[in-house]
Amino acid sequence: MDKKQTINFGAGPAKIPQSVLIQAQKELLNYSGTGISVLEMSHRSSDFSKIINKTESLLRELINIPDNYKVMFLQGGGSGQFSGVPLNLIGLKEAKCADYLVTGTWSAKAAKEAEKYGKVNIVHPKLDCYTKIPDSGSWTLNPSASYVYYCANETVNGVEYNFTPETNEVVLVCDMSSNFLSRPVDVSKFGVIFAGAQKNVGCAGVTVVIVREDLLGHALKECPIVLDYKVQAEMNSLYNTPPCFSIYIMGLVLDWTKNNGGCAAMETLNKQKSSMIYDIINASNGFYACPVDVACRSRMNVPFRVGKKDGDEALEKKFVEDASKRGMISLKGHRSVGGIRASLYNSVTVEETEALAAYMKEFQKEHQ
Ligand SMILES: *Cc1c(COP(=O)(O)O)cnc(C)c1O
Repeated sequence: MDKKQTINFGAGPAKIPQSVLIQAQKELLNYSGTGISVLEMSHRSSDFSKIINKTESLLRELINIPDNYKVMFLQGGGSGQFSGVPLNLIGLKEAKCADYLVTGTWSAKAAKEAEKYGKVNIVHPKLDCYTKIPDSGSWTLNPSASYVYYCANETVNGVEYNFTPETNEVVLVCDMSSNFLSRPVDVSKFGVIFAGAQKNVGCAGVTVVIVREDLLGHALKECPIVLDYKVQAEMNSLYNTPPCFSIYIMGLVLDWTKNNGGCAAMETLNKQKSSMIYDIINASNGFYACPVDVACRSRMNVPFRVGKKDGDEALEKKFVEDASKRGMISLKGHRSVGGIRASLYNSVTVEETEALAAYMKEFQKEHQ
């Protein structure tokens, strides 16, 4: 099938804008007159320096990264940072403890990993299902914690913060893997922001880490050198071979983001797209059901059940199959929650979302 007719609602690796793929294809064999591909280019060459510097400056421009923050392009994925964060930061204070907000699958994994390196305090009563963000009035933040950690958008569960947690001066760390650049962000509120690229800003292989300079140099002695923020920041992510091609693709996606109005424009579109799907769910008289609290429904990943509140599995299977016959793919929910999940990242267009909306209405008419 022609790529154009396929609509990819995958949660990650996710859709990359077609213009980016076309440019990468054009440049694949002969990058900018060098006669070679980015895939076979030295990471210490001047051509690659231009690529990584351009990627960094675009990122700085898109989210206004203050000068006292370093930007790194690391390997190991978002999961690598589940270890990288405590290894670099839990030793900031003597108590070696950290506060975690656990509002979904990814922050739960991060908290579990951090336990290897220090004391982890889950700041709210444990949730039995990940469908809400506990009221901030109920959080017990520890003033002697080295940092407070949260995940801005829980990709599996569809739970997204629409506010930045207040930490009373304790360093704030955020996993923005699945909503990075989907809306403007005030970087100055954070100690560390990290994001794997394969959701909203490119392909797998590279993870952006933005870190405030005063937090460098506190790594535990057992921190692997490739995850050491100070080493990587001082060497412009070139301590060892970085994921060159993934950085190049990210640069192209950032160009695309900028040319399409930047984060503010993305936010407008993401609100519009996600509302379109939530409106259908809300108006479906229970045929579709989203388990997530209205206050924290994700604009990026919309999980829902089909047929009844807890999902009619046979009908959900049919929903996915019929969708795929229309070229709409990767709508199956994460195996841990079941049902359907539509991921509406920056690259997914309003028209593509309209196609899903129209299909949902039709499916309901046919099957309710
Ligand atoms: C996908 C994802 C991760 C894990 O990313 P990997 O690159 O697979 O390690 C972490 N956090 C969030 C929010 C994610 O969506």
